[in-house]
Amino acid sequence: MYKHILFATDLSEETDTVLDKVQMMRGYTGAKLSLVHVVEPLPGYSYAYLGIEDIEEQLIEEAREALLKLGEKLNVPREQQWIEIGQPKSNILRVAEEGKVDLIICGSHGRHGLSLLLGSTANAILHGAKCDVLTVRLPENGI
Ligand code: AMP
Repeated sequence: MYKHILFATDLSEETDTVLDKVQMMRGYTGAKLSLVHVVEPLPGYSYAYLGIEDIEEQLIEEAREALLKLGEKLNVPREQQWIEIGQPKSNILRVAEEGKVDLIICGSHGRHGLSLLLGSTANAILHGAKCDVLTVRLPENGI
């Protein structure tokens, strides 16, 4: 059975939809639970206008606080909360490998058409992961 579950969260309200399933899988398996959120760097053009480092620092700080709150809610210790900076898909996959995770849980918008061609995060995780992946369908109005 699964020993280490990684919940990839974009820290949006949609997270609540996935939380029940995360808790259920954790209860069912007795696995260790880790959380990961990836902060995406701001696009290059904003450098010219804004104090980019300050803004990024603030984004990271806000994400850290939100993840801490989620960690408290789920009873996940700080050392199992990962804040990464960069592209979500590659960082989630890296954290999963480094943490010897055997199940990644993420949300899925069930996109189709052009969005699917561009590739959603869930899609990328599903295709790139070396372990099992549980994608939880998010409500349609979130598209
Ligand atoms: P998306 O494909 O961007 O709509 O996201 C689908 C799912 O991927 C979300 O419900 C999260 O589980 C995960 N995800 C997306 N962005 C991030 C992020 N920045 N950090 C961690 N997980 C993410």
